[in-house]
Amino acid sequence: MSARDPIADLRRIAFLLERANEATYRVRAFRSAAKALAGLPAAEVAERAGNGTLTELAGVGDVTARCVAESLAGEEPVYLRRLVATEGSDLDAEATALRAALRGDCHTHSDWSDGGSPIEEMALAAVELGHEYVVLTDHSPRLTVARGLTAERLRRQLDHVAQVNAALPEGFRILTGIEVDILADGSLDQDDELLARLDVVVGSVHSGLKDERSKMTRRMLKAVVNPHLDILGHVTGRMVSSRPAGVTGPGDRGHRARTRAESDFDADAVFAACAEHDTAVEINSRPERQDPPKRLIRRALEAGCRFAINTDAHAPGQLDWQRFGCERAALCGVPADRVVNTWSAEQLVEWTHART
Ligand SMILES: [Zn+2]
Ligand SMILES: [Zn+2]
Repeated sequence: MSARDPIADLRRIAFLLERANEATYRVRAFRSAAKALAGLPAAEVAERAGNGTLTELAGVGDVTARCVAESLAGEEPVYLRRLVATEGSDLDAEATALRAALRGDCHTHSDWSDGGSPIEEMALAAVELGHEYVVLTDHSPRLTVARGLTAERLRRQLDHVAQVNAALPEGFRILTGIEVDILADGSLDQDDELLARLDVVVGSVHSGLKDERSKMTRRMLKAVVNPHLDILGHVTGRMVSSRPAGVTGPGDRGHRARTRAESDFDADAVFAACAEHDTAVEINSRPERQDPPKRLIRRALEAGCRFAINTDAHAPGQLDWQRFGCERAALCGVPADRVVNTWSAEQLVEWTHART
């Protein structure tokens, strides 16, 4: 006899997901599984859990079947345990504390690529927000739709940033960086010599987002183990909603309404490599991205990864979007000491250079 009631566990999960304002389809998955099992004799549920045929029932999927099997084995389902771990904590206070612990932003754009404002304006807005640094990460050459910077233009930008920094208030600096494209074969779209020179390298997939799973996994693994890559940007490439009103601007890409599915890759393999090679996983704060999804943030956390909570701001006002990323990080129980932009600029650069 099992010590637990699998149907009660499924209902409890649905309740906690609802309370955490998770997507309706996810809540429904647990409720419909509970309903499907409620109509069956307990012996049949146990037998089906034993021989792996629970998923043959309408309304029961892989995740819910695993919860049932764990429940029947007398264990608290892992899915439930994760939800309970963040239950009861004051998420609002935790998100606020996490935001307060952030000392900079590692992913921002200027009008040198597809941002709407000059570097100086982005920097001044960051100063007003209380940041100690902002990493300027304009796009790389092959992202031509976003006016990606050639090696030549990036070198000019580095000179320009040095001048701007000299004029900025003491205690604040612009760190140099790039959002480098992870190319189809997993290599990075900029000269090694330049990547080595930059303070912070964010790498993102912007093309071939529908690559099949094994190809995308190989591609991401190759990038993640590259010592130049410090932060893996917007991990799944998903778009959950159209751009919020009022944020389209000159050069700001993709202002038409659209959503995009997550790209398909072996997340556990990628996060294991991130942990092993000390590559941070970005929590992208943009409302239309919310990337990675919370289930993947939790898996990256369990894998031992570091994180960077970034805005990917394309305009000064968007620099204040970190709060959204902090809320999602808090929901997943990400502690501040795993977040690289809680460090000072010196610590951050020490870390990136130790990796290069
Ligand atoms: Zn990007
Ligand atoms: Zn970006």
